[in-house]
Amino acid sequence: MTSNDALLDTRLEDLAGLLGKGGLLTAAEDMERYRVDWPGYRGALPLAVARPATTQQVADVVGYCHRHDIPLVPQGGHSGLVGGALPDAETPELVLSLERLATIRDVDPINFTMSVDAGCVLQSIKDAAAEADCDFPLSLGAQGSCQIGGNISTNAGGLNVLRYGMMRQLVLGLEVVLPDGRIYNGMKALHKNNTGYDLKQLFIGAEGTLGVVTGAVLKLSPRAQTTRSALLACPDVDAVLGLYALARRRCCDLLTAFELVPRTCLELALEAAPDLRDPLETPSPVYVLMEVAASGPIDLDTMIEGLFEQGLEAGLLSDGVLAGSDAQAESLWRIREAMLEGQRNRGEHLRTDVALPISSLGEFHARASQEILALSPEATIIAYGHIGDGNLHFNILPPPGLETEARTTLLHELEERLFEIVTEFDGSISAEHGIGRFKQAAFLERLSEPEFDLMRGLKYLLDPRSLLSPGRILPRPGD
Ligand SMILES: Cc1cc2nc3c(=O)[nH]c(=O)nc-3n(C[C@H](O)[C@H](O)[C@H](O)COP(=O)(O)OP(=O)(O)OC[C@H]3O[C@@H](n4cnc5c(N)ncnc54)[C@H](O)[C@@H]3O)c2cc1C
Repeated sequence: MTSNDALLDTRLEDLAGLLGKGGLLTAAEDMERYRVDWPGYRGALPLAVARPATTQQVADVVGYCHRHDIPLVPQGGHSGLVGGALPDAETPELVLSLERLATIRDVDPINFTMSVDAGCVLQSIKDAAAEADCDFPLSLGAQGSCQIGGNISTNAGGLNVLRYGMMRQLVLGLEVVLPDGRIYNGMKALHKNNTGYDLKQLFIGAEGTLGVVTGAVLKLSPRAQTTRSALLACPDVDAVLGLYALARRRCCDLLTAFELVPRTCLELALEAAPDLRDPLETPSPVYVLMEVAASGPIDLDTMIEGLFEQGLEAGLLSDGVLAGSDAQAESLWRIREAMLEGQRNRGEHLRTDVALPISSLGEFHARASQEILALSPEATIIAYGHIGDGNLHFNILPPPGLETEARTTLLHELEERLFEIVTEFDGSISAEHGIGRFKQAAFLERLSEPEFDLMRGLKYLLDPRSLLSPGRILPRPGD
């Protein structure tokens, strides 16, 4: 045994002592699942996996790591899509899993707030809100596994942003363990609070680089009494945008989701979930999957049927189905989930989440499709997304049969071209997934000097030795 090994053993013994029984995992087989994320990327074997059960234990572990120069990475439900939570191979890291910090602390149906631990799974938060006759509106495909701390740290968006906003708009208070182990307690359940800098916003979307989120006060909405979902067939993306503008005006601010689903995605969904049926008889190039929801006595059927008729008259849609029951609505939305599964089943592909002004989406879509297919005529473009937020998942399946290296090189080349077009349209290379490690190079290329200096300054102020999630978003010092 070398002196380094002996030192590591001592550190791990100390950490195990701080966390108690079952709080620290060190056996390779126990740590395996903490190395892999939803898309199937695999990180390095961590030094150990710390599983604190209280905020104080998180603070003890982070403080210990700070004093002993141990890099660490917080981990939620492993559903992030930019590799931020995967343990790094360059410098061995401690994984700090929030999975045992999973208590709903309080639900206040009069204040419309809920206080939660960071490790609560999103679905459990939605269920607890529903029990109190409220809604927590964040809704996304990974809600059965992602944690609210991960949602906060990635400033997650999802299906209902156009009505309720992203995580930034849904968090009223935050509790964070700072990189030196001190606890910042900002768990105020206030709808208005104008005292100085809004510190919680620093940590939302910081992808674990500025602190470990341990608790949050979330903003709830009155529970929807009625919801209606529809799948509408449209001739092209421009028609979808026209329909969106119409729907925003006709649906009295009750529009909660407006998703673009191209035919290719519907087919991927049918492939991944053979029990699903094509809801319409005649195939269409694109569809809109939409939902309206109301918490009071409002006739949504008349509203959505009126939209359908007006859209039909204006040539913005050709056909559609309005879900007549909850089960039918559920199977329409299962298309949205199953198409992600269908993409994953196709293996390595380019996954993006670009943002553009909504009014530019049609032109962007046409131009990007043309240029990508000019570079790779046999690639398959699957551009779907939260069209009501100007957020397009412009994903690309590579031509079949390419060797691994050729495929990776091609996908990289296509991504670079796509991002150049995004920049020309004054868009963003990440609407909701964040930067992590996978998007870092493209992000840094587009950062102005003042932006870089401000971000690096913040990181240095909070984490001068760059021990927390090093190398995510910003490069490590010296890189
Ligand atoms: C099927 C699927 C659908 C998705 N749909 C959407 C979507 O519609 N909209 C959207 O925005 N995103 C979507 N995502 C990605 C989204 O970012 C994640 O699902 C979710 O927000 C991440 O939560 P997590 O708990 O899994 O975090 P993880 O993947 O574990 O971590 C994500 C990042 O947050 C950091 N982190 C995690 N917990 C904490 C904490 N407590 N404190 C500090 N840092 C922390 C990690 O270090 C990492 O950098 C989807 C992902 C999948 C797999």
